[in-house]
Amino acid sequence: MPSTLAQHTLLEQYVKKILAAPVYELAVHTPLQPAPALSLALGNQILLKREDLQPTFSFKIRGAYNKLVNLSAAQKKRGVITASAGNHAQGVALAARQLGIDAMIVMPTTTPELKVSGVRSRGAQALLHGESFPFALSHALELASQTGKTFVSPFDDPDVIAGQGTVAMEILRQHQGGLDAIFVPVDGGGLIAGIAAYVKYLRPEVRIIGVESEHSACLNAALQADDRVVLPSVGTFADGVAVAQIGAHGFEVCRFCVDEVLTVSNDELCIAMKNIYDDTRSITEPSGALAVAGIKKYVARTGVRDQTLIAIDSGANINFDSLRHVAERAALSEASA
Ligand SMILES: *Cc1c(COP(=O)(O)O)cnc(C)c1O
Repeated sequence: MPSTLAQHTLLEQYVKKILAAPVYELAVHTPLQPAPALSLALGNQILLKREDLQPTFSFKIRGAYNKLVNLSAAQKKRGVITASAGNHAQGVALAARQLGIDAMIVMPTTTPELKVSGVRSRGAQALLHGESFPFALSHALELASQTGKTFVSPFDDPDVIAGQGTVAMEILRQHQGGLDAIFVPVDGGGLIAGIAAYVKYLRPEVRIIGVESEHSACLNAALQADDRVVLPSVGTFADGVAVAQIGAHGFEVCRFCVDEVLTVSNDELCIAMKNIYDDTRSITEPSGALAVAGIKKYVARTGVRDQTLIAIDSGANINFDSLRHVAERAALSEASA
């Protein structure tokens, strides 16, 4: 909750940027869809914000477009460069093509082929470098300083955060009744910062709960240490979320706007992917199911009933081949539960 004037001013600046973000030149308003089976099983009203239905199949185009559209004419001319495990890359590629800007994207070598081809098919240059995001990132930063291209952070940038915050603007318009909590998947913290800034400014009673993979829980670590600690290693199953350090701009908001952070296992993600499939007949990628996995954990721990809980279903970029592994893990862990 904002308690100081400086905090209040920070949130107000984000709310203004969110309201002014012209993301609908590219992004769409996504449905806020009831999940009847999950709601029944959990004894709470569960709603899914279907960001997997965006062009490029994740919310990342919101932030990418808002960043690119706000560049100066000279910056647009020199082009942009970024590092991404995939979804931000596709967002930047599509936004750049729409705005006629050259884009170069450094991706870790572990990036699924689906995401690499997603970038190339949108006319951007994909460069595979480094075994995980931090290596790709430092290479991209080096190239940016050599070439004069503008580096576009996947999450650590106020324009990107404001673009992602448009998700919250839609949610509060779509659901004007009682709302207890919004569960947000976290990687670098851009999405949760944008959502938290908007919601805590307008509806501070709504809880903002971050959900991280237990293999890349950098927001949880930062909140506990009250410092942006760097994780010694990160897992890559939820490859949309494999960052070792929470972004500085995001953390500035999260440290007073996030009520709680939960961590979930890979097996819990696989079961949540199945739950989402059962309710919507849609496939999510592992990080897309983080929020639903978090809701299940939250309800089990707190025993809350009859609340309205929203999960951000953040993306659908999964290789078809991986579905066999996901289905197997879900079946095995449900059997042993
Ligand atoms: C990027 C991403 C996230 C996390 O967003 P951050 O702003 O980095 O915290 C979650 N889910 C998916 C599918 C993503 O692509």
